Amino acid sequence: MTKIEPQVKMREQSISERLKNFSEVPLGYNEAEAVREAGRCLQCSTSPCIKGCPVSIDIPAFIRLIREKKFLEAAGVLKESNSLPAICGRVCPQEDQCEKACLLHKQGKAIAIGYLERFVSDYERAKKKIYVPRIKARKKEKIAIIGSGPSGLTCAGELRKMGYQVTIFEALHQGGGVLSYGIPEFRLPKEIVRQEIDYVRELGVEIKCNMVIGKIYTVEELLKQGFSAVYIATGAGCPSFMDIPGENLNYIYSSNEFLTRINLMKAYAFPQYDTPVKIGKKTAVIGGGNTAMDSARAALRLGPEKVYLIYRRSSEEMPARIEEIHRAEEEGVEFQLLTLPVEFMADKDGNIRGMYCQRMKLGEKDKSGRRRPIPIPGSEFEIEVNSVVVAIGTKANPLVPETTNALKLNERGYIMVDESGQTSRPEVFAGGDIVSGSATVIKAMGTAITAAGAIDKYLRMRLEIPPF
Ligand code: FAD
Ligand code: SF4
Repeated sequence: MTKIEPQVKMREQSISERLKNFSEVPLGYNEAEAVREAGRCLQCSTSPCIKGCPVSIDIPAFIRLIREKKFLEAAGVLKESNSLPAICGRVCPQEDQCEKACLLHKQGKAIAIGYLERFVSDYERAKKKIYVPRIKARKKEKIAIIGSGPSGLTCAGELRKMGYQVTIFEALHQGGGVLSYGIPEFRLPKEIVRQEIDYVRELGVEIKCNMVIGKIYTVEELLKQGFSAVYIATGAGCPSFMDIPGENLNYIYSSNEFLTRINLMKAYAFPQYDTPVKIGKKTAVIGGGNTAMDSARAALRLGPEKVYLIYRRSSEEMPARIEEIHRAEEEGVEFQLLTLPVEFMADKDGNIRGMYCQRMKLGEKDKSGRRRPIPIPGSEFEIEVNSVVVAIGTKANPLVPETTNALKLNERGYIMVDESGQTSRPEVFAGGDIVSGSATVIKAMGTAITAAGAIDKYLRMRLEIPPF
């Protein structure tokens, strides 16, 4: 049996260096490294990796092209199924998807599919030879997309390729959704997000920013303006709080505010940008997901003495990507696991000075499939902190659901859709986090691709257009 080499490691900034800047931590493969990693692929006839990919990228095909040093052709294969590969190559949880399904996974030697995806899309961008797929003949129907996160951008791109006229309405002054305001520069450079958005524009999609739908126009008004269908992709960006005493003290931030100030308003570059974010010498981030890990690592780079990560379960239950947990630990975030804050305490000026926490133990599995945290009586203790970031999850953005007539919502305020993404209103479709609740970039994109197909089918049936 041929010996399988281990995965080719990706170079990254040293720990001491990366803590001094907000630049991307992993540095990417060079050509030789990419070809070597691609050379490990078995080119399995059953391609289990494709089944593990929520948008069914032809993974063996693009890896084969890397092996043959046909990097631009490899980018073409990626773009057929994924309009945002440079982003997915960086933030997708490949360890739970394609790489988990890879035949070599069991031996602990899965192909680094994400690293290769990132290499190919970076190569394409560096060569400035961006592959633009064929756009079908122009159709007269216009489609409105609400929200320019990964779901809105993907749905827009797919519909545009079918020839529809597509306009995205975005509430913020900049597109990208969480990719722009949530995920920090050191994980996803904003220049890459900007270029991926430009690519969607190059396809012919119009993006209108500063357009808060539900305030400026309602869905009803968009339909009256001549849009034949609407796709709602407004995400789950509404912050959740813990609802414990003292939560409104100064220097307690929601992760949304904290990360938006850092990413979108460039607080880390103050005074070059005039929007600082103030944190204390001791900062605590509460939560165990990607948002908590991003907040903790961003806080570390702002220079406090100590950053704690407070999570009520154990590391095994943490929803964050393993790679990010590992990076947070090695950068010096102090994990306080099985710990639940129960009260925030104030100094005489109304600023936070500390918090009472309680130790927890794990019980039986709950609905989420994770072991339930149970408080240990009498285990309360105090931690001194001068700022806190609450990163315990988010809720549905309510504005569009609440201003659209006859839209069925579930008990948590998320939009209900059938398997194609169609809502209770036939001309209104929805996908991404506003349907699923906070999930992943690739899942938001997958639902967008399905919905784009359903919108096309719906319009053809309604307008009696024959299939291609
Ligand atoms: P969003 O990205 O939330 O985009 C929604 C867009 O709609 C926003 O631009 C918003 O401004 C706009 N909008 C809202 N209301 C209106 C309105 N009324 N009118 C007009 N526009 C409106 N996933 C991963 O796969 N990997 C990761 O590593 C990862 N890290 C994450 C880190 C953080 C900090 C966060 C918060 C999330 C992370 N996620 C990650 C989850 C992932 O980013 C989301 O699942 C994904 O962005 C959802 O996409 P979406 O398009 O549905 O919504
Ligand atoms: Fe290559 Fe792994 Fe896919 Fe097989 S399962 S084709 S080894 S990436």
